[in-house]
Amino acid sequence: MRRNLVAGNWKMNGSAESIRGLLQGIKEGAAEVAAADLVVFPPFVYIGLVEQQLTGTSVAWGTQNLSEHASGAYTGEVAGPMLQDFHCTYVIVGHSERRTLYGESDEMVARKFAAARKVNIQPILCVGETLEERDQGVTESVVERQLKAVLDLEGIEAFNNAVIAYEPVWAIGTGRTATPQQAQDVHAFIRAKLAERNPTVAAQTRILYGGSMKAANSGELMAMADIDGGLIGGASLDAKDFLAIARSGC
Ligand code: PEP
Repeated sequence: MRRNLVAGNWKMNGSAESIRGLLQGIKEGAAEVAAADLVVFPPFVYIGLVEQQLTGTSVAWGTQNLSEHASGAYTGEVAGPMLQDFHCTYVIVGHSERRTLYGESDEMVARKFAAARKVNIQPILCVGETLEERDQGVTESVVERQLKAVLDLEGIEAFNNAVIAYEPVWAIGTGRTATPQQAQDVHAFIRAKLAERNPTVAAQTRILYGGSMKAANSGELMAMADIDGGLIGGASLDAKDFLAIARSGC
């Protein structure tokens, strides 16, 4: 049985003050969503503050990115072992904003996935097609290509300790959400691709949906057979909204 995971990607938002308030709200309501795992992803500079506020609670934390390298002359980058120092449980790799705005290739994303595993931090691998790709009918081949880069480098067993997030790019931050059936179809496709390599691993891998998920649509999305939670952007910046999404899947 897969437990839902509800993840808040705060992107480049917040201040020390607003983050303290947001975490307070999340901590107060977390007990009501005991049936789901919760994790938040602050900007790098606030990870120490988040660790301090969440240690001893049921809410996990992680970062939105990491370097593929363990150390060295990589100005501006943050390495896996540094995240380990802050006891991160998860790290997002291959978010579409990283792929599009910062040119991260499938191969680089795979190396970042490997870097996370090396320090025992669970990668949340983001995959998903653009609107143009959906319109061209190539959604499955795009997602398969993104997934294959990781499977070829790290192998199927890696997904015993990893999560996948299907995030159609056209639904991220646009207010436009995939229908439950559209999302389910891609989730089932992803699980089938994993099952071709190892059905046991496929059956236990959590696959999250991301893309304008909010309390008004999260219940029906998470009710689908292969949707095991959500990766939430905008709605995760409000504790009440974030918790309402998490509750809707329980
Ligand atoms: C995201 O950034 O991963 C995301 C899904 O954003 P939003 O919920 O704002 O669409």
